[in-house]
Amino acid sequence: MTMERRNFLKLLGAGASAATLGLAGCASGPKYTGGRKVVVIGGGYGGTIAAKYIRMMDATIEVTLIERNDHFVSCPFSNLYLGGILPDLSSLTIKYDKLAANHGIKVVQAEVTGIDAAAHSVTTSAGVFKYDSLVVSPGVEFRTDEIKGYDHDVMPHAWKAGPQTVLLRKQLEAMKPGGTVVLSIPLAPFRCPPGPYERTSMIAMYLKEHKPGSKIIVLDANPDIVSKKGLFLKGWKKHYEGIIDYRPAKKVTEVDNKKMTVLIEGIEEVKGDVINVIPPQKAGHIAHVAGLVGPDGKWCPVNPMTFESTLKKDIHVIGDSSIAGAMPKSGYSANSEAKVCATNIVARMNSRELTEMSGVNTCYSFLSAKEAVSVTGVYQVDKEKHAIVAVKGSVGVSPDLSELEAVYAQSWVKNILTEMST
Ligand SMILES: Cc1cc2nc3c(=O)[nH]c(=O)nc-3n(C[C@H](O)[C@H](O)[C@H](O)COP(=O)(O)OP(=O)(O)OC[C@H]3O[C@@H](n4cnc5c(N)ncnc54)[C@H](O)[C@@H]3O)c2cc1C
Repeated sequence: MTMERRNFLKLLGAGASAATLGLAGCASGPKYTGGRKVVVIGGGYGGTIAAKYIRMMDATIEVTLIERNDHFVSCPFSNLYLGGILPDLSSLTIKYDKLAANHGIKVVQAEVTGIDAAAHSVTTSAGVFKYDSLVVSPGVEFRTDEIKGYDHDVMPHAWKAGPQTVLLRKQLEAMKPGGTVVLSIPLAPFRCPPGPYERTSMIAMYLKEHKPGSKIIVLDANPDIVSKKGLFLKGWKKHYEGIIDYRPAKKVTEVDNKKMTVLIEGIEEVKGDVINVIPPQKAGHIAHVAGLVGPDGKWCPVNPMTFESTLKKDIHVIGDSSIAGAMPKSGYSANSEAKVCATNIVARMNSRELTEMSGVNTCYSFLSAKEAVSVTGVYQVDKEKHAIVAVKGSVGVSPDLSELEAVYAQSWVKNILTEMST
């Protein structure tokens, strides 16, 4: 379904509550008698924004952001580096010094190894931190045990941006013309539903320009293209006829790193010169260690209004790790969820009424160096279902491949990374 931008803005206006805008409700809520210390785990799309908005809304709350790295590399736009549009990952890399200084956030570079919900403490490689409220936004972990023989040094996933992305690009550069790239896509849900299909487009573009006679075989475990199907098919036909060989319902279960083959359901073997295996995913490792994962063994159930874990009190899970109903696992969703979560943590600590959840997502995908497409949605809580659902009529894709969408996309990534880092 396509949707006029004007209609979308109207819906966004109607759907965007105070929570999206970071305004706490004023009416009186249950009396809060706890302390004012918040710890945030993960300095990515969700964590940076939760830490920042809590401090922006109430500077009397002490916020500590714990992240294992001293920098963060954005997955959004990393496919453009694989396609050769970006020369390196520097424009996608942020540091934490300005965020810390501008908002008085204590940033600690450390690995979080444990969470004690009863003691309200977090154990890290740099010591123990006490909290009154904890926000967990650790992204995803890979279910590599479901792919026998998997070794990401041979068949990179490049599904966490950084050295893996650089490795995959080097492998593409080193491949001989006329070679075969194999890309395997796991069963949904996974981080960024349109991401694998944007990657297919970007690798195909690279092959078309730099490796004549080469092709990319896409082995999709899903029965069909998961997101923006019509637009991807249109773009592939327009730009990459004969280069992309898309095969649905092909689940990779085993690999042979020496023979450079993947095995589908133990039967069909496919050989590649470069193999990009995106394994199935689950919540970040720390969420499993802390007992935040639900009965599905993969993702963290949360209260859709506050993102508080339904399993552990005073711990909120946002971003890819959480089960956020209809909201896709995207950076924009994580950003939106972080603002709702921050708003309601601040409201609770100030004995104010909670604000109704309202979220927004737009995911852009590049089809060529100049053309992109997008999918957009506005989300709220359905009180009967007690789950996040899409606002009726709000979800839609852009009408066609468009150079203007590519301009919007460039602006989106610049804005969101600036918001995360300043
Ligand atoms: C190729 C690709 C393209 C994408 N394109 C888009 C796009 O165009 N638009 C979009 O909206 N989304 C896109 N996404 C999805 C987006 O990257 C994720 O949805 C988003 O990063 C999720 O945010 P998060 O906070 O949950 O996790 P992350 O952003 O991954 O942040 C998690 C952070 O937690 C840290 N961490 C984890 N565990 C620990 C620990 N134990 N101790 C300390 N630190 C820890 C990690 O180091 C990391 O910095 C894309 C993803 C991929 C792979």
